[in-house]
Amino acid sequence: MNFLVSLVGAGPGDAGLITKRGLERLQSCDVGVYDALVGEELITFARPDAELIYVGKRAGHHSMTQDEINQVIVQHAKNGKSVCRLKGGDPFVFGRGGEEALFCREHEIPFEIVPGVTSSIAAPAYAGIPVTHRDIASSFAVVTGHTASDDAPPERFPVADTLVFLMGVRALPQIVARLKERGESGDKPVALVRWGTTQNQQTVVGTLATIENEVEKAGLKSPALIVVGDAVNLRDQLQWFDARPLWGQTVVVTRSREQASSLVENLGNLGARVIQCPTIRVEPLPSSPELDAQIALLWKFEWIVFTSVNGVEMFWRKLEELRGDARAFGPATIAAIGPATVAALKVRGIRADFVPESSISENVAQGLIERGAGKGKVLIVRALESREVIETKLREAGAEVEVAAVYRTVPDLTNVESTRAALESGEVNWVSFTSSSTVRNFVEALGEDFVRAHRDKFKVAVIGPITAKSAREFGLEPDVEAGEASVEALASVLV
Ligand code: SAH
Repeated sequence: MNFLVSLVGAGPGDAGLITKRGLERLQSCDVGVYDALVGEELITFARPDAELIYVGKRAGHHSMTQDEINQVIVQHAKNGKSVCRLKGGDPFVFGRGGEEALFCREHEIPFEIVPGVTSSIAAPAYAGIPVTHRDIASSFAVVTGHTASDDAPPERFPVADTLVFLMGVRALPQIVARLKERGESGDKPVALVRWGTTQNQQTVVGTLATIENEVEKAGLKSPALIVVGDAVNLRDQLQWFDARPLWGQTVVVTRSREQASSLVENLGNLGARVIQCPTIRVEPLPSSPELDAQIALLWKFEWIVFTSVNGVEMFWRKLEELRGDARAFGPATIAAIGPATVAALKVRGIRADFVPESSISENVAQGLIERGAGKGKVLIVRALESREVIETKLREAGAEVEVAAVYRTVPDLTNVESTRAALESGEVNWVSFTSSSTVRNFVEALGEDFVRAHRDKFKVAVIGPITAKSAREFGLEPDVEAGEASVEALASVLV
């Protein structure tokens, strides 16, 4: 059955916490209707031609009434569009999903519900607070901080070992007062978790007696939830998300988006907030008769050298366009620079025969020559504008070298402005560079004067000695250098 309207729980904020089906619906919908608490990152999964309608509150904008939202959903569905109604957390936990489903039913629009991970459980979990525990809490209840009829919490709270209040930050004084009135002790542990599961997660812990003061001191505002119960004390032992080694650190990643994912993932897993400032984008080069001939006659090369993951990917595109596969390499000896390039080849059925110990071109050339590549026919797969050290050295040694330039890098300025603002405000702790070109492109994109003027606000991390040298040339003395040329090593040197 094809549902016209999917009421989808987007999860609590961390984009990884949407369900598989929810993501499928988002990726295939014609129209996406989403709220303020849905992470911007998730929205990027919609099709580029999908219509995306924001219906949440936004400073300075009139927010849609529930009636208007219902109309938007039903109107698009009546026009035959598939609608993904994305709601923060779970659609039926204080999400007004029930009202939207009823409205669909009234208008005979078929709908489905895709439940989501509710913030009422997930945000405490990310703060290290289990809402139940065998010895400490055998029940939990989720309560609204303000009811439909008036702006206050409900008259009577349920009785449960753990109480979670949503939409309750403003009503905190009333909530505390009511709990005391019904006899809870002033020592009862309380926590507020703001922006749970996201990089902006903030937690304030206290007791019924102290929490108002603590919240005021921390300046904590909504969106946050309030957890009341002895399970809050487990945070002392179970804190994990905001205890990871790079938590609180903001790192700028200057790699192209195509290459950045593993570094971004590594840093993210260690708790860092990552700002991507790619400055360049990888673009395949149009086919040329020369490249077609090289691919058609791959078997005549004794050595084929892949210098980057991009090189492998773009080369494979061409190979596949020409209806070739791994067999095209015949008996050639394959060299790959760096562990990521080795991995990119491996998933395509090619085991690299030679991996130079160092990624520095001079050493790569030396290693190739030591293994006899200085005598044979060599194909080097690389970017149009790479350093020419390897081919020059091999030619000097007597090799017959051809170059397959399969991609080039072009400027990508999409995130330059926001990166500038972040650097200016001092919120950036690290700027990381993974190659000489990332240094050059970054300085060019942001402006040499700008970078110099703000140099004392951030630290510089580089992946290796050549990148370090380039950074110095641009006045960016590295503060740390990775132990080896890999994103894992770069991430761990930041730790
Ligand atoms: N349907 C949602 C709740 C919507 S009500 C769900 O299941 O999570 C909105 C309230 O949820 C906010 O005022 C706040 O109290 C809470 N909330 C939502 N996301 C949150 C988050 N990431 N961290 C803390 N509280 C959150």
